[in-house]
Amino acid sequence: MQLNKLFIGGEWTVSNSDEFFETVNPATEEAIAKFPKGTKEDVKKAIDAAQSAFPKWSSLPAPSRGKILFKVVELLRNEKQRFSLLVANEMGKAMPEALGDVQEAIDVFEYMAAEGRRLFGHTTTSELHDKFCMTIRRPIGVVGLITPWNFPVAIPAWKLAPALICGNTIVFKPSSDTPLCALELVKILEKAGIPKGVVNFVTGSGDVVGDEIITNKKVYGISFTGSKTTGEDILKKAGIKKVGLELGGKNAIIIMDDAKLDLAVEGVVWGAFGTTGQRCTASSRVIVHNKVKQKFEELLKKRVTQIKVGYVIKGADVGPLINETARQKTEKYVKIGLEEGAKLLCGGTKPKGKGFFYHPTIFTNATPDMRISKEEIFGPVLSIIETNSIDDAIDITNNVEYGLSSSIYTENMKNAFEVINKVDTGITYVNSSTIGAEVHLPFGGVKGTGNGTREAGIEGINEFSETKAVYFDYSGKLQKAQIDVS
Ligand code: NAP
Repeated sequence: MQLNKLFIGGEWTVSNSDEFFETVNPATEEAIAKFPKGTKEDVKKAIDAAQSAFPKWSSLPAPSRGKILFKVVELLRNEKQRFSLLVANEMGKAMPEALGDVQEAIDVFEYMAAEGRRLFGHTTTSELHDKFCMTIRRPIGVVGLITPWNFPVAIPAWKLAPALICGNTIVFKPSSDTPLCALELVKILEKAGIPKGVVNFVTGSGDVVGDEIITNKKVYGISFTGSKTTGEDILKKAGIKKVGLELGGKNAIIIMDDAKLDLAVEGVVWGAFGTTGQRCTASSRVIVHNKVKQKFEELLKKRVTQIKVGYVIKGADVGPLINETARQKTEKYVKIGLEEGAKLLCGGTKPKGKGFFYHPTIFTNATPDMRISKEEIFGPVLSIIETNSIDDAIDITNNVEYGLSSSIYTENMKNAFEVINKVDTGITYVNSSTIGAEVHLPFGGVKGTGNGTREAGIEGINEFSETKAVYFDYSGKLQKAQIDVS
């Protein structure tokens, strides 16, 4: 079996621990590769390497950094098929989605590479004579990137690309469920010519490797994507650092009585069961108008029973959950839903045999306060809640601690704008599912979904840069703001 190393200071290095962990194909339960359980000493070395590489990398003109990122784009394009197979095998998502995962990485590297010729600050007026005012962007310094497994190439890319173009140096810890995808991405960066020490890669547990990245005082920025519980822990431990948190979701699709039901059914199936429900933007609630509920449920059930669950490499539509713990969590919530009095429309069972599979599951007659309607399950479980008005539907949508994505199916513009303006989420789709982000728009959420940062687009640049205000006085005399002019 492939035994892998850490990447520190531009060298593939053994860890100073002799402990390893395995990454497993969740469809077959077979081990794919072995990785070192990195130690705090390994992380400290990686941070020191990143710190040493910072002066040179940050002073390289941003368009030159961009040229290296364009090379990453080219290499990823050439390797898209191989990478996608790896995603499907290590993470379990269906091949079209695995291809999408890699494409998203290509897109974000392309966007950020081009950003090397912008990295705009702004100029503004001064309240004093003969004084010029502007802002410029500066890198943060050494930044720590900690990523989950559900987009094993795209999410690391969403952080690596803006961090690099802004001139930061990096210590990257991937999820212990998908380190091989992350390692292959690091190899691409190496091949593209990222200088030694600029990107350092340490595998190992959140408690050890993650903890050292978060608490080390030489790390000035953290970008984390993962669960709300871990995010809260990071905020407590990080101290004074720039911290970006992208956390969970409990996303809803509203279906009004004037919606095109066939279209809504396709959106719900894609949103709820794509990636086996393991997307932060997964549609885990449908809030449907009582006038169309019965018809919608008939169409949905018919469509969902056609879904083929199984090994995606052999053509299944929906793959496994990431591991046995995730499957048990899904089973636990199905039991909770039944105990709470919701009714199973379909699913609620797991197939026999190897792999962490679970059948797409739909609860109907769920109420807004049930746990299945409020807590993130992160599995193929959908709750259908009835509504009788747009105002009620908006209240139900907002009745959760998260605020990532939302959607409405309607032909009525007023309903659509009510949702756009009143639903507390970072993203709203109209006549489309809760998933489908594009890399030039900001991505992130409100309330329990995060702490205000956004990834991708220009907001991604904000996450990985500091703004400096510059006052250039060419008057030749002492001028005092707020005092000379009042
Ligand atoms: P997780 O358990 O929080 O883990 C995420 C990462 O944090 C992993 O690399 C993990 O390492 C590490 N980690 C765990 N405990 C840590 C600690 N105490 N200190 C530092 N690092 C620690 O989340 P997950 O199960 O991988 O991902 C699923 C969650 O991510 C869901 O809640 C989902 O909604 C959310 N998510 C959010 C977005 C978004 O953009 N809003 C996108 C995708 C996913 P190990 O793997 O070694 O434990």
